[in-house]
Amino acid sequence: MLWSRVFIPTLRDNPADAEAVSHKLLVRAGFMRQLMAGVYSLLPLGQRVLQKIEEIVREEMNRGGAQEFRLPCLHPREIWDRSGRWSKMGSEMFQFEDRRGSDVGLGMTHEEIFAHLASELRSYKELPQSWYQFQTKFRDEPRPKSGLLRVREFTMKDSYSMDVDEAGLDRSFETHFEAYRRIFKRLGLETVAVEASSGSMGGKESIEFMLQTEAGEDWVAACESCGYAANFEKATSRVPEAPKGEALPAPEKFPTPGVRTIADLAAMEGGAPADCQIKTLVYTIDEKIVLVLLPGDDSLVEQKLEDSVEAESLRPAEPDEIRAALGAHPGSLGAVGADDFFVIADESLRGRSGMVTGANEDDFHLRGVDVDRDIPVKGWLDLREVKAGEGCALCGESLRVYKCLEVAHIFKLGTVYSEAMGAQVLNENGKNVPVVMGSYGIGLDRNLAAIVEAYNDDAGICWPINVAPFEVVVSVIKPKDVDCLEAAKRIYEALLERQIDVILDDRDERPGVKFKDADLVGIPYRVTVGPKGLGDGVVELKERRSGNTRDLEVNHAAETVAEFVLDERR
Ligand SMILES: [Zn+2]
Repeated sequence: MLWSRVFIPTLRDNPADAEAVSHKLLVRAGFMRQLMAGVYSLLPLGQRVLQKIEEIVREEMNRGGAQEFRLPCLHPREIWDRSGRWSKMGSEMFQFEDRRGSDVGLGMTHEEIFAHLASELRSYKELPQSWYQFQTKFRDEPRPKSGLLRVREFTMKDSYSMDVDEAGLDRSFETHFEAYRRIFKRLGLETVAVEASSGSMGGKESIEFMLQTEAGEDWVAACESCGYAANFEKATSRVPEAPKGEALPAPEKFPTPGVRTIADLAAMEGGAPADCQIKTLVYTIDEKIVLVLLPGDDSLVEQKLEDSVEAESLRPAEPDEIRAALGAHPGSLGAVGADDFFVIADESLRGRSGMVTGANEDDFHLRGVDVDRDIPVKGWLDLREVKAGEGCALCGESLRVYKCLEVAHIFKLGTVYSEAMGAQVLNENGKNVPVVMGSYGIGLDRNLAAIVEAYNDDAGICWPINVAPFEVVVSVIKPKDVDCLEAAKRIYEALLERQIDVILDDRDERPGVKFKDADLVGIPYRVTVGPKGLGDGVVELKERRSGNTRDLEVNHAAETVAEFVLDERR
């Protein structure tokens, strides 16, 4: 391909609204353009990378024995009602009426539709089945941002396994796990597999593949000693022994004028350190007020609450709801004697005494609170966020925490969807049983951006060879010099013949502009053909990532470069 003929609109500056490195570079290097919030057009360079990622994923899925499908984006409401997710997904799902007045949704995932197709399976003898597709998904993200990392429309490979029993599901899950490991190796992404919350997908177990990067929005707790790793949504730890506060025969009210926060009370003379306070959060769960208690120095992981209570709706209560229910503003709330409310407390509060909490009266708190004695806790749950340095729940060694980007998520779904869709088979004993399903997703656009997050420098992107839009650029220093252009063309054509993805930069531009563009776009190898080198019978080879250069004899240049590329491709 000739650079002069390809649409590569590189920009001098980063887009003003971009924060994530991948967002800046993909726009500046001409890979994509935003159409509206969370919706991007991929330009030729972006599409070339996406296709390479897709082909790697396809090869590894096929290697694992999966079969490719293509399902619709338009889904009738009825099938989503059967799983209960039409209302559960709510505004996350694009939902509208067609001209006949029927409710239609844009597919955000395809469990329902694949389970519906699986209802044509009849016998365990047809199992296991593994089905996948590449398809556009739609999610009406409340806060689309970071370029391709959080979008409303994206391409996903989703697959679904069907087995006759749990043991079969375990095997299918393992097969997918291994396929994903191979995929990330080929994409050049060093991922860690972590325990995760299954969220709205349901099922009992799920694993995320995480890339450690500041651009991520998830936090992971990991133990280097035993290998335990989990998303904060799921992570547990050994909570350090808490200090003992002053025990009293009964809670004692004391004035705390102006105290609004845990920190205020910790700073106040006669107050209490944060870890001796009880934090009282007010939630509305299925339209009922619920009090959620944590040690004052801990944070609530809302997903843990969601995963534990199985509610249709769950949200923090509004300030006026709180005042109506408890009679105080959020700075003075507490659950002492709160018999009228459902009270949920974090496990680490069990047995604590000498605690301080709000009195449900503005500017007053209670001290000497004994949690078991004074607070009617109805549910003890693990709700708190793990902190760095706490003990690993498995081995006790110190936990490390770091920011991650989720690049894939795989689920053991069980029979939720097959039961809803009537997907049953006869088992070995002639009994009808629901098919046991797994679901496995990997977002292609997000992985494209993740690779950029992992491979960049001050000059631009440094694509790994397997996904580079082009593997080699042949840059002609003086395209108007016929000898120069001819020599460059010979190398370019020889590379094409060797099945190398090569682009010839034949533009009538200054060398500096061409080199800058090649570095920004991130092409792994650059062959520079100039009159001076040709006079000595050489061209220059530059490796993008290391910046190393060397001279190659002009007649053997293509051969040598092709060897490098093929060797790196693997
Ligand atoms: Zn451990």
